[in-house]
Amino acid sequence: MLQNNLGLLGAATRAALDHAPRVFIGGEWQPVANSLPAVDPSSAMPVSRIAAAGAAQVDAAVRAARTAFEAGPWPRMHGAGREALLRRLADLVERDRQTLAELEVLDVGMPIWMARDLNVGGAIGVLRYMAGFAGRANGRTVQVGVPIPDSAFFGYTQKEALGVVGAIIPWNVPLMMSVWKLAPALAAGCTVVLKPSEEASLSVLHLAGLVREAGFPAGVVNVVTGTGPEAGAALAAHPGLDKITFTGSTRTGLQVAQAAARNVTRATLELGGKSPQILFADADLDRAIPGIAGSIFLNSGQVCVAGSRLYVDRRIHDEAVDRLARHADAMRLGAGLSP
Ligand code: NAD
Repeated sequence: MLQNNLGLLGAATRAALDHAPRVFIGGEWQPVANSLPAVDPSSAMPVSRIAAAGAAQVDAAVRAARTAFEAGPWPRMHGAGREALLRRLADLVERDRQTLAELEVLDVGMPIWMARDLNVGGAIGVLRYMAGFAGRANGRTVQVGVPIPDSAFFGYTQKEALGVVGAIIPWNVPLMMSVWKLAPALAAGCTVVLKPSEEASLSVLHLAGLVREAGFPAGVVNVVTGTGPEAGAALAAHPGLDKITFTGSTRTGLQVAQAAARNVTRATLELGGKSPQILFADADLDRAIPGIAGSIFLNSGQVCVAGSRLYVDRRIHDEAVDRLARHADAMRLGAGLSP
């Protein structure tokens, strides 16, 4: 019989599910009347409710990020100050590793080992790695060889924080994806409005609480949950952004790029892919088969670089298919917290 995740949750995770729908703007939690269910995909049961923010909340979040960038200490702070706060955030994520992992299991459907080790563990590592870049983003000295008699020239470039960054992420590894967006932007001195996927926002909301606890200045990080067509589209089209960074499907990415283009906002798009694997006749199948299976079944197959196409040499086709099918049959499905 399948075990249900809910019976296996820690007390801190239960408390995290108990919050009324809210968004994190200008360093404060703000209640939102409209809400959406957060659903555990292993049981199809709602486990909490998240805010369904609209254009008004997105606008408030962009304004808070703008104020923090123009008037707050963040971009002018010494790089060592930003580094210290990013490291403090990494320590808090490490402290709450189990809670964040359980929220991710509930929201995404991943097994607990992956949530704890790859996803939360990866987020901690990326925060610490990017923290080291704060204040160390160097410009260049330029040898200016213009041949004007009796003259010598010296040139240099400096890097400056870009401004307010909008970030939209998908549902498959929300915590790590949040940190991939936040950490480099924050290290550089930018301020951020982050919109997680309506399918998986719980860990990102918990992360917002840790940002507050770490003591980041108000408005440096803002988290607005809601649907793509409402909150996502409002953020992508907001003229107050200096940059939009998006990870998700190609179809949505096109819409984001079009919205950004209308405001001449810089855009970075990380879109969907189809990743081929090639199996040659002389491959060691004892090693290749688990590798191929792992690459397509990890995180229930919900990985942008999942090995979703397999090319097999005709001579070993039947054996490879048979062994892959047996490997898949031996996998056990169920609640991600079930041991
Ligand atoms: P999606 O495109 O449906 O949604 C991604 C995000 O965009 C969500 O937050 C969603 O709310 C938002 N969104 C939806 N419509 C929007 C709109 N009109 N304007 C602005 N935002 C909008 O993708 P998904 O189903 O959440 O994620 C799966 C996809 O992401 C797959 O295609 C996968 O390959 C891709 N992916 C890519 C990478 C990468 O690094 N390239 C990483 C992970 C996932």
